[in-house]
Amino acid sequence: MTQLIFATGNRHKLEEVREILADADMEVISMKEAGIDAEIEENGTSFEENALIKARAVCRASGRCALADDSGLEVDALGGEPGIYSSRWMGEDTSYHVKNKELIRLLENVPADKRTARFVCACACVFPDGREYSVRKTFEGIIGWEEKGENGFGYDPVFYLPDRKLYSAELPPKEKNAISHRGKAMRAMRDILMEEACGRR
Ligand code: IMP
Repeated sequence: MTQLIFATGNRHKLEEVREILADADMEVISMKEAGIDAEIEENGTSFEENALIKARAVCRASGRCALADDSGLEVDALGGEPGIYSSRWMGEDTSYHVKNKELIRLLENVPADKRTARFVCACACVFPDGREYSVRKTFEGIIGWEEKGENGFGYDPVFYLPDRKLYSAELPPKEKNAISHRGKAMRAMRDILMEEACGRR
């Protein structure tokens, strides 16, 4: 079984990724379980760069295969903001209730067809022998007019899915995984890694 160290301190993400990679004979272990305590500076200029920075740092520190993701929300009416600064937007310690309210306020006079937004996820995998892979997937929606739903996290309560006529935070976790940016990116990475493993057999 291939072991991958997932470069995150976020339990929620770890569980999500474990579930996605479980059927691919890949065991995902946390940095804590691997005994790695790296402070990684995410100073890239894109989701892809940041994911690679994290995966490279953990691969270097452990000498083992490392997996990382970087994600965020792009709002078209705000020129793509908050983008790679999604978790830091309005300050790291500001609650998402406040951040979501501010998004709604900023888009107050913006009509429905101009409220388009997307969650983006880049996933990177780095091997000790230098092989590097990355994929990027999106989850399209619009910024809604209120906060709704108890599931998910972050910006999910303001992310409205016009096709489904509900907010992302109203989706049960399995349904969100099936269509989300992170779900799609992790499954694409799983397929790359499985093909890689087959090619080397
Ligand atoms: P990361 O941990 O550096 O990837 O930061 C991702 C940030 O983007 C999170 O802290 C959230 O603000 C936002 N984000 C990413 N994915 C989601 C999602 O699925 N739902 C809600 N917010 C998300």
